[in-house]
Amino acid sequence: MQLILMGPPAAGKGTHAAELVKKFNIPQISTGDMFRAAVKEGTELGKKAAECMKSGALVPDEVTVGIVKERLAKPDCSNGFILDGFPRTVEQADALEKILSDSGKKLDKVLNIHVPAEDLIERAVGRRICKTCGATYHVKFNPSKKDSVCDNCGGELYQRADDNADTMKNRLSVYEASTRPLIEYYKKLGKYTEIDGRQPIGKVTEDLVKVLSSVKN
Ligand code: ADP
Ligand code: ADP
Ligand code: ZN
Repeated sequence: MQLILMGPPAAGKGTHAAELVKKFNIPQISTGDMFRAAVKEGTELGKKAAECMKSGALVPDEVTVGIVKERLAKPDCSNGFILDGFPRTVEQADALEKILSDSGKKLDKVLNIHVPAEDLIERAVGRRICKTCGATYHVKFNPSKKDSVCDNCGGELYQRADDNADTMKNRLSVYEASTRPLIEYYKKLGKYTEIDGRQPIGKVTEDLVKVLSSVKN
């Protein structure tokens, strides 16, 4: 099953991708996670991505498409994948169509988690992530049992450097200008389904699974 999980910054893509990974046993491919790992390791890719991420701008398309192409060629993607945070521009979407058609694959579904702009800053600013296992929490909407400690693994929770109100404003305007047009793009391809992301986490997951149960493997 080849899926895209779309949505504005902090809509819940990562949270729900993690649930779908468990349910459907296909990998989550998060360009944001890949860039953060590269920044941490100090690789060439990390150097290219760091400045853009800090300001909330997009990493250039050719860089982003390159890492996704490499990732999709790995054997664990042969039964499907969940793209989380990619594509974010029409150019990336076109490149993805080409990558897939070159390997005889096609997209099954594009799921858009819809959350209104006024909720997104609070979601981002309250987001906390485990340093060890990457689990995502929210100080108000999905708190860990013990402050700053991961329920899964006991790891320390941190706040992403770009999860502040200023950078978020920029990320939201980048979303409006560059990523929102993908809604029309995928509607035209007949692959688009919107999910109400304002519901509690468990209900959003349930709605996603319901849509996907009609998709053939
Ligand atoms: P994205 O990957 O789209 O940036 P995340 O999955 O990291 O978003 O979620 C952003 C923040 O919002 C996290 O702190 C997460 O715990 C919280 N969150 C996710 N889904 C919901 C929801 N349905 N209701 C309330 N908070 C949510
Ligand atoms: P969120 O969904 O919460 O905005 P991500 O982790 O998906 O966060 O992305 C963090 C940052 O990484 C983005 O603001 C951007 O700088 C970069 N990034 C992630 N995915 C892409 C992409 N597909 N194209 C360009 N830049 C990206
Ligand atoms: Zn953890």
